[in-house]
Formats: sequence, C-alpha cells, structure tokens
Amino acid sequence: MNEETTKSPHQYTRVNIWEVADEKEIADIFATSEEYKKYLDQVRTEREGVIWFTTFAESKGFKNLANLDSVKAGDKVYYQFENKNISLAVIGEESIKNGVNIVGAHLDAPRLDLKVRPLIEDSGIAMLKTHYYGGVKKYQWLNIPLALHGVVIKQDGTKVIINIGDKEEDPVFVISDLLPHLSRKIQGDKKLLDGIEGENLNLFVGNMPMKNTKYTEKVKAYVLEELYKKYGIIEEDFISAEIEAVPAFKTKDVGFDRSMIGGYAHDDRVCSYAAVMGLVDIKNTPKRTSIAFLTDKEEIGSNGVTGTDSVALPNLVAELMYREDKTYHEIELRRALNRSFCLSADVGAALNPIYASVHDKNNVSHMGSGVIIKKYTGSGGKGGASDASAELVGKIRRIFKENNVVWQASAMGKVDEGGGGTIAKFIAQYGIPVVDCGLGVVGMHAPYELISKADLYHLIKGYNAFYQNA
Ligand code: MN
Ligand code: MN
Repeated sequence: MNEETTKSPHQYTRVNIWEVADEKEIADIFATSEEYKKYLDQVRTEREGVIWFTTFAESKGFKNLANLDSVKAGDKVYYQFENKNISLAVIGEESIKNGVNIVGAHLDAPRLDLKVRPLIEDSGIAMLKTHYYGGVKKYQWLNIPLALHGVVIKQDGTKVIINIGDKEEDPVFVISDLLPHLSRKIQGDKKLLDGIEGENLNLFVGNMPMKNTKYTEKVKAYVLEELYKKYGIIEEDFISAEIEAVPAFKTKDVGFDRSMIGGYAHDDRVCSYAAVMGLVDIKNTPKRTSIAFLTDKEEIGSNGVTGTDSVALPNLVAELMYREDKTYHEIELRRALNRSFCLSADVGAALNPIYASVHDKNNVSHMGSGVIIKKYTGSGGKGGASDASAELVGKIRRIFKENNVVWQASAMGKVDEGGGGTIAKFIAQYGIPVVDCGLGVVGMHAPYELISKADLYHLIKGYNAFYQNA
C-alpha cells in the first residue's frame, strides 16, 4: 500500500485484523461470534449471567468450590456469591501464595429498574415506574420493545422468576414518547439530553379496565389480577423484588459483510464471556492459578456487597488459598494479592466516524483493530484513574505480541471531553497491579451496541495468553 511505504519502520501502524487474518482465522472468528450471540440473547441480567456461567462451568468439568475441602494443581472450580458474582478458576502448578492471574469483568449493564412501588394507573393506562440504572441517555429507551427480567421474593420467602418479553409469543412493554406534532415546546426548546425526565420513564403495561367492579383503579386492578394469575404475586411483593426492564432486541449480525454484532449489553457481557472462554481454552495446567472474576454494580460505582469495591475478590483468593494450605497466614494472602496481575476487562469507546470530533484520532480505538489496552481511564485530568504502570503495560504488550494477539492502545475521548471509570481502581486497592484491557464498542450504553467480530475473537485469545503467561 502506498500509505505504508511512506512510513518509517519506526512508526506505529494500527493493524486491521480482517486484512491480516487467513481463511482459517476468519472462519474461527465467525464461528466464535455465533456462540457469543446465543449467550448474549440468553443473559439479560447479572443474575442470569451467574446462572448461565454456572451451567457452562459445570458442563466443562468445573466443581463448586464451596463443596471442596482442598484444591490442587489442575483443578477447575467455580465460586458464586449472592447470585450476582461468579468466578471460575483453574488451579496452577505454583502455590497461590506466589500470586494469581485475574481477568475481572462486570455482568451488570445499564437498564431501567422497577421502582419499589412501581404500579400506577393514570387516565386509563396502567404503568410501571422505573429508576434508571447506570449512565443512560434516556431518550434512547423510548419507543422500543422492552422485556422484564428479575426476581420477586414473596411474603413467605419463595422466589418467583420473572422473564417476559423475549420469546416470540410474549408481550413487550413500551415507554411511549410524545408525537412530533405536539412536541415543539415541551421538548423542542430543550437540550437533547434534558428532553426526557427520569420520572417519566414509565412502561405501558395495561389498558383494560376490570368489568363490573367498584374499584377506583380498574385498569391497575386488571393488571394485578393478571400478575396474581401468572406469578402468584400481589402489589406489596414488588417491594422485595429486583425487576429490570431491558431491550427486547435479538442479537444480530450487522452489515452486508456481517463483520459486526449488534446487541444489548456488550458492555460488559462481552468481556465476561471472553474472560471465561479464554480460561476454558487453557489446554495444560497453567503455571499460575488463573481466575475469571465476574462482578456486579460496576455501572453504578462498584459499591455494595456484590460490587468490586467490597471484599469479594480478596475473599475469593483467600477461599482458594485456604484450600491449598489450611494454616496460611494473612500476610501471605496480602503478598499473594501484590504478586498477582489483573486485567480490568471492560469495554472502551471505539471510533464512531459520525462523531469523530470527540476523539483524539491518534488515541482512539478502531473496530476491527483488536483488543484495547487502556493505560488509564478517568476524566478531567485522569481523575479517578488507577493509571497502570509502564512496566505492567509493557508486560501485557509483550505477552500479546508473543502470542499473535492483535491489540491497540486506547484512551476515551479528547482530554476535556468527558470520560469514565472501570473496576480497575477498586482492584488496585488490594495491591493488585491492574490495567484496563478489553474491547472497543460503538454506541456504548445504548440499548443496541456494536462490536467487531474480529475483536471478540482476539479478546478471547488475548485473555487466554494473559492467564498462561503473566
Ligand atoms: Mn463496562
Ligand atoms: Mn458501562
């Protein structure tokens, strides 16, 4: 190519996977994405992620760590926590005291949670009120089919599973926007992001009044009757429930060339998937114990008992270490954490040419150019970033190079444009050297996000190489 011949050999050139992959690799890329698409359609919430990965782990011979008294090299185990965290581990040849290799991703994703008292009736329409979870552009959630997924804990303690809106025969739920004919003042005079109020994100769920009753809210009464018939729940049960409204879109190939995947919640279920697939692809017993750590609550700050800003991760390492040596001392755990390495496996913003102006073109990732390494995240002068060391970035770069993993450097946006964070800074609190490493997404946090199939393939390969070589 002309452009390349004008470049000095010392100049950095971004690689495009599709241009360098041979036929076999391209076939593998497409085959891998077929499996991923099935998973993404089945996992719509963090709880469903834990169930999916538990079933998958068991099918691959992983045992529940909670039932094991000891672990030894070559053992494969999984560990669940509070129905919202799951970790899979392959025990290495070296002692856990020498440190472990962790790929940490999050299973939660932006969505609309039902309020604790969600059901209302207004002007003959029954609606469910929501409180959005994570950073959403509210207008994107209007006029699209939404499904409801979650759990309800009834008065007697029994758990009811809610999963409605994704099957072909299911009804869906919709938040309806104002027609353009009448929105000139109420929306037209506002800024785009202020046009929709969080308080108005109400799902339409019914329009049929109950006949022959003296109830004041007949439409709501009808919906409650249906809920009781279908799930055996009453209105008060919503108070002890976690129900998420999520897009009812199927994961699809995007483009004439089918090079991309459109779907809900690639952030961060794609890194969660790759973390686990990279782990199960380990052929021989790895030198160091390798852990895929799938966490929750990243989108709202990583707090809470199932977030990464908790003791979930050191507790997991302690559970493993205890099963290796029942007499271990706490200082050995602390040293093991410090001798560990972690990839904070999360997505980053890939270039959207329509909005290229928000990016620094030298420091933005491109779809199709491989795994992204983000030395730092944060906003406004690296605020809130854990900022990985040059040594660690160098190590990861070397591992990827030696294992033919296509990767690229990435930073989110121009310096003063905005920014975001990941779990990296919470991992760093335990003294674990950590760097952000994931995959570029276009339209992040939208109900339908885009990724490259080629990037997904190299992400799995990259995590696999990290587990065995870090
Ligand atoms: Mn994320
Ligand atoms: Mn996110």
